[in-house]
This record gives sequence, structure tokens and C-alpha cells, in this order.
Amino acid sequence: MKCPTCNDQPLLPTKLEEQLPANGCRQCEGALLPLLTYRQWAETYSVSADIPLCEISEDTAAAENGKALVCPKCSGFMTKFRIGNNTDNRVDLCGSCDEAWLDSGEWQLLKQLEIQHKLSNIFTEEWQRRLRKDQAREHFRTEYEQLFGDDYGRLQAFREWLTEHPQKTDMLRYLNNSDPYQA
Ligand SMILES: [Zn+2]
Ligand SMILES: [Zn+2]
Repeated sequence: MKCPTCNDQPLLPTKLEEQLPANGCRQCEGALLPLLTYRQWAETYSVSADIPLCEISEDTAAAENGKALVCPKCSGFMTKFRIGNNTDNRVDLCGSCDEAWLDSGEWQLLKQLEIQHKLSNIFTEEWQRRLRKDQAREHFRTEYEQLFGDDYGRLQAFREWLTEHPQKTDMLRYLNNSDPYQA
């Protein structure tokens, strides 16, 4: 098998973890990981940490290959899956061979994000949908911040208070109607 990134380099047996073998490229340091092997590893060496999306510190330097990759096994195109909203890194997957391609540093990135046991989840529609949802929420937050400026925080607190209030409906009606006792 040849490296899907370098094309001319062979993929040689390597290890992402002591008990997690993969096929790596010595030139670009990318690795082809069979998901079957991965799942066995994830089940055996699972951790209780349940933090799906977290901040990435500045020192994470994972390569991200923008071009479409061809699966070293079946020569079909691999599909890119976003890891999270605070990183541009994407993991490539060949759905036919069930093999994932990790660019150099991407395994370390997964570990830093504490999602090294959730690699299979990244390839699910649920994970990708949640990323889009979070991104949309973030987009609206930015829009409102620009629109309301410093008042946005106050407005948010007020809305939270109102949502919980037993007289919410009446209060909303009051807010929406102009005061009939004022000229
Ligand atoms: Zn390579
Ligand atoms: Zn394939």
C-alpha cells in the first residue's frame, strides 16, 4: 500500500499507541488505521472521560490535508469528516474498507480533545449534525453580539429570567403592546 498523501511512499507497520497498530508513512507521518483494530482498542482501553468537544490549545500542530484522498486499499475516494468546530482538521474515511486516514499529528489532536475513544463517532451523522448545530448557534451569538453590543448580556439574562417566570405570557403581551395609558 502507498501513502494516499505522498503517493510514492510505502505504508509501513507502525503504532499509534502501544496496543494500537496502524500503517504509517515515514515521510508525512500520516497513518492508515483500520477501524476494526481501532474499535477493539477503544473497547479494551476505554476511559471514562466524556468530554466530546473542548478547547484546543495553541501548541497543537496537526497537519490538515485539503485534497481529496484516494484509499490505499481500494483506490476509491475517501470522505472527509470534521472533528470539531474549533479545528479545521478533518479525518478521512474509506467507508468501503472501514479504514481511517490520520494526517500527521491528528491522533495527538484527538487525544488532546479527549476524543481518542470516539473516533468512530466522528463518522456518524449525529456527530456531524451536532457540529453544524453548534456552529449555527455560534453564528447567531456573534450576530446578536454585533447587533446589541454590551446590552446583549443583559438581554440574555432578562430572557432567561422571563422564560422561567410563571407570568411569562402576560409579561410578553405587556412588552409587545404599547402602553394604553400613555398618550
Ligand atoms: Zn506520506
Ligand atoms: Zn478503501
